[in-house]
Amino acid sequence: MAQLDSKIPAGPLAEKWRRHKTEIKLVNPANKRKYEIIVVGAGLAGASAAATLAELGYKVKSFVFHDSPRRAHSIAAQGGINAAKNYQNDGDSVHRLFYDTLKGGDYRSREANVHRLAEVSVNIIDQCVAQGVPFAREYGGLLANRSFGGAQVSRTFYARGQTGQQLLLGAYSALSRMIGAGGVEMHTNSEMLDLVVVGGHAKGIIVRNLLTGAIETYAADAVILATGGYGNVFNLSTYARGSNVTASWRAYKRGACFANPCYTQIHPTCIPVSGDYQSKLTLMSESLRNDGRIWAPKKKEDAKKDPNSIPEADRDYYLERMYPSFGNLAPRDIASRAAKRVCDEGRGVGETGLGVYLDFADAIKRLGEAGVRERYGNLFDIYHEITAESAYQVPMRIFPAVHYTMGGLWVDYNLMSNVPGLFVLGEANFSDHGANRLGASALMQGLADGYFVIPYTIGDYLAGQKPGSRPSVDAPEFKAAAENIRGMTERFLQIKGKEPVSHYHKRLGKILWEHCGMARTRASLTEALKLIPALREEFWANVTVPGSADTLNQSLEQAGRVADFLELGELLCLDALTREESCGGHFREEFQYPDGECKRDDVNFAHVAAWEFQGAGKAPLRNIEPLNYEFTKMSVRNYK
Ligand SMILES: Cc1cc2nc3c(=O)[nH]c(=O)nc-3n(C[C@H](O)[C@H](O)[C@H](O)COP(=O)(O)OP(=O)(O)OC[C@H]3O[C@@H](n4cnc5c(N)ncnc54)[C@H](O)[C@@H]3O)c2cc1C
Repeated sequence: MAQLDSKIPAGPLAEKWRRHKTEIKLVNPANKRKYEIIVVGAGLAGASAAATLAELGYKVKSFVFHDSPRRAHSIAAQGGINAAKNYQNDGDSVHRLFYDTLKGGDYRSREANVHRLAEVSVNIIDQCVAQGVPFAREYGGLLANRSFGGAQVSRTFYARGQTGQQLLLGAYSALSRMIGAGGVEMHTNSEMLDLVVVGGHAKGIIVRNLLTGAIETYAADAVILATGGYGNVFNLSTYARGSNVTASWRAYKRGACFANPCYTQIHPTCIPVSGDYQSKLTLMSESLRNDGRIWAPKKKEDAKKDPNSIPEADRDYYLERMYPSFGNLAPRDIASRAAKRVCDEGRGVGETGLGVYLDFADAIKRLGEAGVRERYGNLFDIYHEITAESAYQVPMRIFPAVHYTMGGLWVDYNLMSNVPGLFVLGEANFSDHGANRLGASALMQGLADGYFVIPYTIGDYLAGQKPGSRPSVDAPEFKAAAENIRGMTERFLQIKGKEPVSHYHKRLGKILWEHCGMARTRASLTEALKLIPALREEFWANVTVPGSADTLNQSLEQAGRVADFLELGELLCLDALTREESCGGHFREEFQYPDGECKRDDVNFAHVAAWEFQGAGKAPLRNIEPLNYEFTKMSVRNYK
């Protein structure tokens, strides 16, 4: 059974991080040069970590499967990044950001982690401004803010609808500086396919060079995974098409626990699915809910009518009606379920009936079209490109879609997994968002982890490792792991079945969306747990992977990623089945209040479920980390 020591420091909540930093072990500057650290991933979490660790003097090797760190999925983030600066003087504080995030996560995250996140949020903005990130500013030159879901203050910093891109350019500049200075050795087009564990510690990785097909081995004193989220297990999602679970999943199979895999976030404002051949879905940023009003027709028979012809009296602004305090800025899980209910009642709009309206008519009256264009122009352009409709003239059609994964590899307060020497940052870990992430808090967490947490905490581990003691890549563990990957690659090529990899990805996605999506039941999950192993068996017997292993082969890359999704999908359903309560994005229909809200079971489920691999074909072990609320009272979330 895995040892899950969260290492939460003792003492008052607001003092824990400060004290911890002064008490954990340090590595002296001369010794830092002797340690090598592998960082896999260079999105916001990985690039900020690699740059900062190299600035500190560690030798860093950075790996990405993309052809440039600038292609990381972080670039897609639109809406903004939270920070408790209280520039608006509207009552914000570190405590309020902490409280909103903890409550937003439906009391399924650690108090100490979330408080640290809120504390560090203010440093992130200063750091990024110093790097030149062009955050939006008020007329007088001060940084501007807008509101995001689950908060009654304006604390979201933004750069139009391109916040992720601008933040990534900042982190990429910092990374490039250290590549130029020789502190970071950059490996692009390099996909990590295995973790190497020596003497119980993470000491290296196996990589496939995606251009030449060469299987390469790299050793280090510690390994950091910042490889993003696994929402593409559902096939259709708002993620970049390349996002995958492979690095985390292979680490899981080497002993790292996978925590709360069933906590997936479904975002309420995405462009609805339009056909079977679609490869991804597109987000319409939550920031649009600052000014757009969500509604559906009151009467079923109006669902197919031109929305502009439906009189005000026949429109149901259901979020404003159901949640008057938060209105259109109700958190994502709540807004998504409300949209589903409206569509289940037959009031959904668009060709498929799976859509509701996001309407800017009032905002245009108030701000003028130019005012709306200035705030959201690029989002309206994206919408127009995809639907050929102008949202200045007709309301946008939106529907919930898979968007983020709160689950991920288990980490302690130092962001170290239960495998010593393996650290996990950003969306790849499970740490701070509980069962539901609030908008604009993923960028905050990724940059907190990379710029401000790992630079302190990794020293605590490295100080216990003798400088120069890292194993050589000639060690048997490296050879065995590399051989294993070569064997797997060959196996894919030899199947020579009839269906392409995408066929199985699509079918897996459909099973998960229908049986373990916005609503889950014991019956649907039990069914999914039969369907997924059968699909996996079919995949291994009938998939076709053309080409060879010694060159660029995207089908081969996809095969490995989908093979991992086919295993993760099963764990996701098992986790959802075992968690017999509803919380945040995990909605079990059996556990709800009469008004349809989530019914948590704090007596039996106020814990993290951290799954431990027990070997192929064996049931994984469910470990538990209890969540203790010392400073806050767990209450029923209320946004009314
Ligand atoms: C459309 C969209 C909009 C969003 N908008 C916002 C927003 O406004 N505010 C907010 O807070 N959050 C937002 N999010 C969420 C946020 O963008 C992500 O959670 C965050 O950017 C993830 O950052 P990351 O560094 O953890 O991972 P990523 O940016 O996904 O980076 C992963 C990195 O790992 C590398 N990698 C992965 N696997 C391997 C492997 N096996 N081998 C080698 N390299 C590997 C990739 O090459 C990449 O460099 C949005 C998400 C989406 C989908």
